[in-house]
Amino acid sequence: MSEIYDLAILGAGPAGICAAIYASRGKLNTLWLEEKFVQGGQIVNTYEVDNYPGLPGISGMELGETMAAHAEKLGLAPERAAVVSIEDRGSVKIIRTKKKEYRARAVIFAMGAEHRTLGIPGETELSGMGVSYCATCDGAFFQDGTVAVVGGGNVAAEDAVFLSRICRKVYVVHRRDELRAEKILQESLFACKNVEMIWDTVPVSIEGKEQTEALKVRNVKTGEEKSLSVDGVFIAVGIVPNTSLVKGIVKLDEGGYIDAGEDGATDTPGFFAAGDIRTKKLRQIVTAVSDGANAVASVQRYLMEL
Ligand code: NAP
Repeated sequence: MSEIYDLAILGAGPAGICAAIYASRGKLNTLWLEEKFVQGGQIVNTYEVDNYPGLPGISGMELGETMAAHAEKLGLAPERAAVVSIEDRGSVKIIRTKKKEYRARAVIFAMGAEHRTLGIPGETELSGMGVSYCATCDGAFFQDGTVAVVGGGNVAAEDAVFLSRICRKVYVVHRRDELRAEKILQESLFACKNVEMIWDTVPVSIEGKEQTEALKVRNVKTGEEKSLSVDGVFIAVGIVPNTSLVKGIVKLDEGGYIDAGEDGATDTPGFFAAGDIRTKKLRQIVTAVSDGANAVASVQRYLMEL
């Protein structure tokens, strides 16, 4: 029989990394799994993070690496493995990857979220051929080109500002007439001379044969359709939680996020949630790391009572 870990942490974004730091300091025998090569979760796709206290203007990649290095200094680094199933056996939880089966007394779900897709014609077909979900990863391919950013949140605003420095022209296509993004990001966006806002407009399809050539859009107020000639389309229409593995194990809210409060406790004893994956009002790096700490404190209480 394999050993039984005190805790399994699934995910190595800010919530998972912070949970690992607290678990390490709490001397919990911890299993930590992450399926991606790079640690840091969604922040590695962020050009600049300017709201994490003490590190103004740090790149998302550097922040992720710095956080992971902190955990490693305390003795914990994630194993690279994709979890394929989780089973609740009461006081023992089973975590299966393709190659192994692990046992743990408690589990923190910190698998975060990933980008939402639009589901319009051309999106899948031209993905990687002009359609992208990561401006910092792919923006450089559009030097002096024309691109469209779809969305009105923080990511769309940040992406558009970033792309405006590389591209000749950037359209921002948003379905309403005001942005959801923070005011400070809106100010930066509206100050970009080569950014054109296309309000009250939704994307209809992405056109092109081997490469993206146009984004067809429709004005939701007038019904008018038009085609924007673009070399690239950056889709930033929000996130969806990575909760497919935990369906039927813990309660999810109507948005598909794990129903857990600030202490991370789910409705199933021994399972905890931290970071973007759980129900919360504000999804930020600071709230994710705070979740990681809170979830470990809850795990420690749970283990004492087990
Ligand atoms: P978001 O805040 O949920 O914004 C998504 C945007 O896409 C909204 O403007 C939404 O329109 C639009 N949208 C959603 N579905 C759409 C569809 N089917 N068609 C067209 N437009 C659609 O998501 P996000 O910007 O990706 O950010 C994700 C999370 O990370 C947020 O919680 C955000 O606060 C956080 N974040 C924070 C920072 C920061 O602190 N600097 C940076 C990046 C991300 P409506 O506005 O009409 O709903």
